[in-house]
Amino acid sequence: MAYFDNNATTPLHPDARQALLDASTENWANPSSPYRISAKVRASMQKCRESIASYLGTDPDQITFTSGSTEANNSVFSNLARTADPSSRVLLSPYEHPSVTEAAHLWFSDRVDILTAQSDGTVSTDDLEAYLSKGSLPALVSILAASNESGVIQPWREAARICQKYGVSYHCDSTQLPGKESLNVISLCTFSVFSAHKFGGPKGIGWLIGDGASSMLVGGEQEKGRRGGTENYPAIASAYRAWESIVQAPIDTVGLSSLRDDFEEQMEKLFPGIRIIGKTSSRLWNTSLLIMPEFENIHWVGKLDKLGFQVSTGSACSTTKSGGSPIAQALAFSLSETQRLIRVSSFHGHTRSDWEGLVSAFAQAYASLKEESIDSSVISL
Ligand code: PMP
Repeated sequence: MAYFDNNATTPLHPDARQALLDASTENWANPSSPYRISAKVRASMQKCRESIASYLGTDPDQITFTSGSTEANNSVFSNLARTADPSSRVLLSPYEHPSVTEAAHLWFSDRVDILTAQSDGTVSTDDLEAYLSKGSLPALVSILAASNESGVIQPWREAARICQKYGVSYHCDSTQLPGKESLNVISLCTFSVFSAHKFGGPKGIGWLIGDGASSMLVGGEQEKGRRGGTENYPAIASAYRAWESIVQAPIDTVGLSSLRDDFEEQMEKLFPGIRIIGKTSSRLWNTSLLIMPEFENIHWVGKLDKLGFQVSTGSACSTTKSGGSPIAQALAFSLSETQRLIRVSSFHGHTRSDWEGLVSAFAQAYASLKEESIDSSVISL
């Protein structure tokens, strides 16, 4: 498997594909309609909701199906802005996805505070506690569970407990956890969010967990009036099947991370001066964020693509924006460093030989870039 951009999206799992086809063929009726074929869809949807809730140790009523994490993250802030004191502030980690940062600024304008970025890619819970113990409490704290860029796992459980102690709502963007790390005690968070395409499900479906959470989409009484729009049951059924096949399946995180670690060791030997972001921190087993010693990431990505390997220049959502990488901003990378960032992210099923193939592809890409740079100084940094 040569696709190494699974933090951007994962391929549809065969079980999820079958569930999508089956539900689209047999359970296509509008779940809100008053006849029996709809009642069947309603009941099946409720079953998915209850099973997910039971796995996550939460109440089914706390789950609102959305189009994914972007919508769920936006919902948290738009909903809060309607209910919180107009002078209240929100506190974010510096590594949040733009669907958190931009939603926070949209609804809270300049009343957004940011925790300090530590050089290992984490935030410190001492910093959080110091902020909260100052007195005036924020309306919400947002610290993502794991960075989609670096894979660094934040101390989200501890942060949730600290927020509970101070009676402050805690929003955890948990998008990158399912299928990679344990979701144990995710119910400690006031809000958490999920996107099915990150764990082998279809795109455009996910959910928000949280008490009183409600979406920006009005104009329908679906999801108990919390999210307007006909529910996409086939996508929900498919997401649930991916959840069963990927998220609930046991995984050998130690073995999987050793494949990634061996890849990094090989890369360090091949490319002296390479930097691996968050290497000393606890990270998702599938992710490696590299600053290459030479050549712009877009040239690396192009070469690797031609060799049949897909990697990313950073988070998929930042590839079209220069300087749009949250981690590059948080850790104050120079423009040149930001332009040399490459993210590699595997998933279930990647083998040692896949990783070794990627190392060889990097070696080949380098040879080709070097050769071209002799003729042109344009692509060399
Ligand atoms: N949060 C994180 C941490 C993510 O990685 C992503 C996807 N890159 C999102 C939110 C948004 O997810 P989606 O595009 O599925 O709405």
